[in-house]
Amino acid sequence: METTGFTENQLTVREAVGAVCAQFPNTYWQEKDRKEEDPSEFHAALARDGWLGIALPESLGGSGLGISEATMMMQTIAESGAGMAGAQSIHANVYATQPLARFGSAQQLQTTIPNIISGRWRTCFGVTEPNSGLDTLRLATTATRAPGGGDDYLVSGQKIWITCAQVSRKMILLARTTPLEHVTKPSQGLSLFCIDLDRDKPGLELRKIRKMGGRAVDANEVFFDNYRIPADSLVGQEGNGFKIILHGMNAERCLLAGEALGLGYAALARAAAYARERVVFRRAIGQNQAIAHPLADAYMNLEAAKLATYHAARLYDMSAAAAQDGASKQEQQEQPQQQQQQQQHIRQDAVGVAANSAKYLAAEAAFRACERAVMTHGGMGYAVEYDVERWLRECLVPRIAPVSREMILNYVSEKVLELPRSY
Ligand SMILES: Cc1cc2nc3c(=O)[nH]c(=O)nc-3n(C[C@H](O)[C@H](O)[C@H](O)COP(=O)(O)OP(=O)(O)OC[C@H]3O[C@@H](n4cnc5c(N)ncnc54)[C@H](O)[C@@H]3O)c2cc1C
Repeated sequence: METTGFTENQLTVREAVGAVCAQFPNTYWQEKDRKEEDPSEFHAALARDGWLGIALPESLGGSGLGISEATMMMQTIAESGAGMAGAQSIHANVYATQPLARFGSAQQLQTTIPNIISGRWRTCFGVTEPNSGLDTLRLATTATRAPGGGDDYLVSGQKIWITCAQVSRKMILLARTTPLEHVTKPSQGLSLFCIDLDRDKPGLELRKIRKMGGRAVDANEVFFDNYRIPADSLVGQEGNGFKIILHGMNAERCLLAGEALGLGYAALARAAAYARERVVFRRAIGQNQAIAHPLADAYMNLEAAKLATYHAARLYDMSAAAAQDGASKQEQQEQPQQQQQQQQHIRQDAVGVAANSAKYLAAEAAFRACERAVMTHGGMGYAVEYDVERWLRECLVPRIAPVSREMILNYVSEKVLELPRSY
């Protein structure tokens, strides 16, 4: 990828994370995919060098960098050949800790976050449900106060597609605490929890889902049946969960966009190398414009998506900085006036549009690059040894999750173009 224009911090992250990733060659990822085995050594290596706290404040043991740098980290991971599997083994620890760092209790900040940064605990993100799908506000998992006047909650319901639940100690869970019929808007009455996933306790069951790609990381159905969690698992105020989680969702879209870019650039580099070397009809196949032009077109699409991605990440960081309660007066005084004014003018809906657009464009660009990489390889594109088939299987994930292409198109139609809401 062309790196002109990135900040010094982003380039430092790219180089350092790239050096860790270099210890995990494509054969490692082929093997993990084949055996459906968690890349725990990779997660541990990144944790050892402190990368899991990249976007968390220094006061909590993080690096104090932003989503702009975390996106670069996720891109670098995917681009190294680790693909979505490598990225998915890491990313919830980066984005799901964002709302926790901002709204968590002292105890959550002092215990959970340091354990996640050190890699001792892993976390997963529990939002999607089988019966509500993308209609998140209608999710049916409930957390109700345990009878008998105690402080605990009992969780009942089902989550689906929860990545890394098998290896996670924690789950950031979105559940309904006030029934839908008792709230004026469906976005009310949802609460966010940071819970232990303790399978020795009654009321919790995990079932692995067999899937198309990214097989090194587990995906799960999670069943709760009166699963008891302490009241101090609540993050922020009861009923405010959706507002809180939105904070993490825009960060997640930026990271996913970065991951998609990484996959796309990896596939394109591999395709170009093959097109330069593979000789058929006594000339390199890349000399045929039918091979060269689709690759050039894929490159330009990736570059455009790259601009959208790092623009969104920058807006996210600027809005987070403006909102940061902890920003000291002195820090504010030290900032140039123009920068302070810019931060104050970042609207949340502008961040949402930018983050969603970036995720959409990067996912589409990655798909185009990965599909063309397979086709450039001809028959060898279908062979595991050449990696491009693995990346093609994996590049469908950013098109589907965490929000589908269609829902992003709905969102932009409504929020930007002011067209009637279609859902
Ligand atoms: C590999 C993988 C990992 C995941 N990891 C996690 C995770 O860790 N945690 C988590 O909570 N979730 C996770 N997910 C879930 C993911 O976020 C959802 O699959 C995604 O949000 C889509 O929801 P759904 O599958 O229920 O699709 P559905 O809501 O059933 O939608 C199906 C299709 O219908 C379309 N559609 C639905 N309604 C409309 C409409 N009104 N207009 C136009 N089109 C519409 C959708 O765009 C989609 O194409 C993961 C998914 C995958 C595949």
